[in-house]
Amino acid sequence: GEVVRGADIDPSQLVIEKTKSPKTIPPASQLVFGRTFTDHMLCIPWNSQKGWGKPKIQPYGPLNLDPSSTVLHYAPTLFEGLKAYKGKDGVPRLFRPDKNMERMNRSAARLAFPTFTGEHLTTLIKKLVEIDADWVPTEPGTSLYIRPTMIGTQAGLGVGASTDVLLFVICSPVGPYYSTGFKPVKLYATTKDVRAWPGGTGGYKLGSNYAAGVVPQQQAAALGYQQILWLFGPEHRLTEVGTMNLFASFSSSSGIEIVTPPLEDMILPGVTRDSILSLLRDHASGKKKLEGLPENLTVSERNMTMGDIVKAEKEGTLLEMFGSGTAAIVSPIDGIGYEDRVVNVPVGSDGLGDIARVLLREIVGRQTGEIPSEWSVTV
Ligand code: PMP
Repeated sequence: GEVVRGADIDPSQLVIEKTKSPKTIPPASQLVFGRTFTDHMLCIPWNSQKGWGKPKIQPYGPLNLDPSSTVLHYAPTLFEGLKAYKGKDGVPRLFRPDKNMERMNRSAARLAFPTFTGEHLTTLIKKLVEIDADWVPTEPGTSLYIRPTMIGTQAGLGVGASTDVLLFVICSPVGPYYSTGFKPVKLYATTKDVRAWPGGTGGYKLGSNYAAGVVPQQQAAALGYQQILWLFGPEHRLTEVGTMNLFASFSSSSGIEIVTPPLEDMILPGVTRDSILSLLRDHASGKKKLEGLPENLTVSERNMTMGDIVKAEKEGTLLEMFGSGTAAIVSPIDGIGYEDRVVNVPVGSDGLGDIARVLLREIVGRQTGEIPSEWSVTV
């Protein structure tokens, strides 16, 4: 349903140039996130006169950019992150690529970049993964991370809509995310730096949202915390954790409530967040019960403040908190450094809370194809 002006991305025009010097594929245990790339990349140029050009799958390598390219000055750049998983049958599968295409088109529109038919780019990504299929690791917990990107390549220093854009897709094999089991993280709740604000771009996956998060992250690390808990406003509303969405669960006399902040325009619409909400809602409504989840579960998209968390900790009603994202699926939280103390958050002996443990099982099952699901798209 995207409005595409000029020529759309056209998979039938694909040109393939295979590498003459394939690289050695390292064993999954030696992979460091985002450091190793496969043999090929997909590139699709766009120009305001001609629309989308011929897609090309070519050997992975440096881009040739004019030093005045808009991306290098004013940061017109956006990205996506999705993964291909090989199940026991050795077939690579993408997880809900339509959601990434939808979010990528939203980001593109926000940067005055061209949009495209999401299914066409998915078709091309499948072709890229098929060509580099040997790079998709097979061990449990491994995957091929796929990074679609768009940059403004117009040469010239004027600030305005870029007349030239490059869409490219690179792929990086990822080792077992948690090689030593699930390690809960401690968050530093910053009351100084703000990630996103009403009317800002926090709800879009723009490169410019991320550069400014590095210094706060370094400061949190220096204090012994693994991730930042991004707060907003004088009431210290919880928004996101590092580059993940946030969930918390509470007990009450009427059952268990699981809460995540509403999307509005400060929260990135995570694909994992959406998948979690859908699984939990189907359980709560009785449409599809999930073994291990409490019967009387309420799912809420509502705001929470640090005051609410501190109060629940004191009353013993804070049950669990976790971050959600493509990288780790769920990332359990066991404490929050806030003002002068650490708020303790319960975790199970395996490092996971009761809800996160079930969600992990259900999502991994759908990613690898072990649980049949329309979310899983074979390559
Ligand atoms: N929030 C932010 C700021 C992110 O960068 C990400 C990672 N894309 C997420 C949340 C989680 O999104 P997803 O579940 O689509 O990976």
